[in-house]
Amino acid sequence: MRCAIVGSGLAALAAYATLRHGEVEPEEIVVFGSHEDPTAVWRVRAASIRQARMRSESEGHLAPASFPGLAVREALRRRSAMPLLQTVVNRYHPTVDDFLAHASEVRTRSGWDKSFRAQRVERVRALAGGFTVDGEGPFAHLLIATGHPGLARPDAFPSAVHAYEPHDYADKVAVVGAGMAAATEWLNALAAGAEVVSIRRREPLRRPLNVPRPYFSKRGLAAYQASSAEKRAATLRELSNASYPPGAAWDAPLRTAEAEERFRAFTPEPGSNGSNGAGCTGVQVIAATGFRRGFRADALLADLVDAHGLATHDRWIVLAPDSTVPALTDARRTLSIAGVAAQWAFPAADTIAGAKYAARAFRRRVCRTR
Ligand SMILES: Cc1cc2nc3c(=O)[nH]c(=O)nc-3n(C[C@H](O)[C@H](O)[C@H](O)COP(=O)(O)OP(=O)(O)OC[C@H]3O[C@@H](n4cnc5c(N)ncnc54)[C@H](O)[C@@H]3O)c2cc1C
Repeated sequence: MRCAIVGSGLAALAAYATLRHGEVEPEEIVVFGSHEDPTAVWRVRAASIRQARMRSESEGHLAPASFPGLAVREALRRRSAMPLLQTVVNRYHPTVDDFLAHASEVRTRSGWDKSFRAQRVERVRALAGGFTVDGEGPFAHLLIATGHPGLARPDAFPSAVHAYEPHDYADKVAVVGAGMAAATEWLNALAAGAEVVSIRRREPLRRPLNVPRPYFSKRGLAAYQASSAEKRAATLRELSNASYPPGAAWDAPLRTAEAEERFRAFTPEPGSNGSNGAGCTGVQVIAATGFRRGFRADALLADLVDAHGLATHDRWIVLAPDSTVPALTDARRTLSIAGVAAQWAFPAADTIAGAKYAARAFRRRVCRTR
């Protein structure tokens, strides 16, 4: 039996660690990826928006077993019950530094480096007994975890810096977007002494996690997975609206800055792109506009869908509830998808919890076949 993982980010590391926990040996797994350090891509994005704390909570970690979570680890390290108390009321958010230190431990302990192969994969094909990866294989079980297919840049602001690229702040800053990255950037730019205009199409949604909590529960998920294709797509469209958490830590600095006339929101007229009227001339524009969307924007996935005529709905690949591709998964072979491209199975696929959801289902199939 041989497994392959295509992609080398957080979802790939979660899957690798989970397979290793299922006693699949490093020699039986090949990770084809662009970055040997599985945190490399994420780390730059988080650092660019100066993210200090995770949006996720204690269970947003990459170790294969749920327990102990990051709160327990921090409580033991600091000899303090505070992280555990905060967890009880859903107020514990690990620091980004702690999360990255933990990811690095998981990488070392799992043996990731023994299986990693630096290779940007162009083509995956199914055969009777498995899959080829750029002609190599076959691998009986394959998980694709290629992450987001690039940054979304607003046409109206061609010279904008993207929030997920390293940048500093000018004296006058306009931030396009209304999600977590935008909210973080308002506060960053204000703290750096800038005047800030927030350009947004609608009032920002306030949500503690990327996706409402019920979707992380068995019951909420079962209802989603039982809904019709059209309803599922409508749910995913609704959930893809940008949001950031509620709370005074976000609101208080904005209120103060508003009173000082250093922060204002600007909503362009419908049909206008916002480049006029926001007073953006001579202003640094930061595009907090997230990522390109849909499987068509990922060349590897688009090619796979076309080559095998896979079922899709709108911008999503249709997956089974366990994140596998039904047409290419049977008793002997598994094709799974993890990360944002797996939202059809799990709406919060683009979170660490989502990475683990796909990883565990993949391991179950791999270990069953063994
Ligand atoms: C700033 C930021 C903060 C976030 N904070 C949180 C949080 O607090 N909690 C939470 O749960 N989630 C959070 N998320 C969401 C989520 O955890 C991330 O999106 C996560 O990085 C997804 O992991 P991934 O492996 O799917 O994608 P990535 O980490 O992007 O990794 C994909 C990897 O695959 C490589 N790759 C792509 N195509 C190929 C190919 N054809 N061949 C080989 N390799 C390829 C890429 O180059 C990349 O290295 C955050 C996201 C961002 C951007």
